[in-house]
Amino acid sequence: MKLDVDVLRYLSKDDFRVLTAVEMGMRNHEIVPSELIGRIASLKHGGTYKVLKNLLKHKLVHHDSSKYDGFRLTYLGYDFLAIKTMVNRGVFTAVGRQIGVGKESDIFEVASEDGTVMAMKLHRLGRTSFRAVKSKRDYLRHRSSFNWLYLSRLAALKEFAFMKALEEHGFPVPNAVDCNRHCVVMSLIQGYPLVQVKQLQNPDTVFETIIGLVVRLAEHGLIHCDFNEFNIMIDDDEKVTMIDFPQMVSVSHRNAQMYFDRDIECIYKFFGKRFNLSFEEHSDDIDNSEVDPDESSRPSFSSITKTAGFLDKELAASGFTRKDEDEIQKFIEGDVEEDDLSHGEHDSELCQTNIKGFDSLHLDQEEPTSSCNEEGQVDENLQTSEAGQSGDP
Ligand code: ADP
Ligand code: MG
Repeated sequence: MKLDVDVLRYLSKDDFRVLTAVEMGMRNHEIVPSELIGRIASLKHGGTYKVLKNLLKHKLVHHDSSKYDGFRLTYLGYDFLAIKTMVNRGVFTAVGRQIGVGKESDIFEVASEDGTVMAMKLHRLGRTSFRAVKSKRDYLRHRSSFNWLYLSRLAALKEFAFMKALEEHGFPVPNAVDCNRHCVVMSLIQGYPLVQVKQLQNPDTVFETIIGLVVRLAEHGLIHCDFNEFNIMIDDDEKVTMIDFPQMVSVSHRNAQMYFDRDIECIYKFFGKRFNLSFEEHSDDIDNSEVDPDESSRPSFSSITKTAGFLDKELAASGFTRKDEDEIQKFIEGDVEEDDLSHGEHDSELCQTNIKGFDSLHLDQEEPTSSCNEEGQVDENLQTSEAGQSGDP
């Protein structure tokens, strides 16, 4: 199944209104009762069911009548809501080819009105298997509406907030452009993931730069936690850019040392294998027999002057709160089981896309203007199109 943005162009105002209603209903319902969707959408002339049938045809919603007649969004439906918001905000006007398939994301090229090409990352938490842990089910008992939509939105928000904060502190990261729902738009990095690079002019310099980044991150109170050859981009001038931030943790995390060592180990291992770098074990002793094999030039977590919480202010400014961090961390560390997120289903066939060239989007600029609270009461002042940005699901 393609991310067929053609369909997006032909969706009417009513289609989007009903799609938004399903999204809002999902804050409290795994499957949103059809009747509730009708009430939230409150189309002037009725006909919500007909619209739902159209959305179903385009695989933007999933029909479920096992317990009662209802619908939920598919990833594609969620994609369309985010893309429409971005287009309406003027962030981009066209969607191009897919440039990356991550473990829990799909990345596409998008282009703005003036032809600037950027990268759009659509987070897909719940697509692949989870680091399932059999305990702490308590957590979910308190959160009946915990779902993949919410998790993917949190992952995007976290990524956006970290990218922005890191950029402000001079780290080589993509420029964070905008964020809505599970979607992050950032500058396109010209280059390749390190894993695809077979040869370097100056492997030593690149290695030192990369290790230096892990150290500097820790000095700023942060650990990447997935710092490896897949998340380091390198361009023709061998300039390094790091990507992929949803799993970052603070140096005050209880497993900080382990995460730090693991990031360092990944880089040492990769450079040793791919570029045949050998790593000297330093010692002040002239007699090599005295060298303790554990005492190397590797940065050690304990010897770094760390500023825990240094970026907290910047992160909060991007709308990413401590509560958000706790929630997503619980998921990333495996306290949430796959079963608990089953309504995320595996819409992977909806995520696989293969678009040639760019499809420009001339969308109806008008937004659905009414919204409702969780009980389905209509509040005419809310902008439903921004629903993905607001509070908890
Ligand atoms: P995941 O979290 O799923 O691993 P990543 O953020 O690592 O996703 O992105 C997956 C792949 O997409 C990367 O390995 C890279 O090839 C590509 N990619 C991601 N962001 C960009 C970007 N800003 N510019 C160019 N390519 C990118
Ligand atoms: Mg990655």
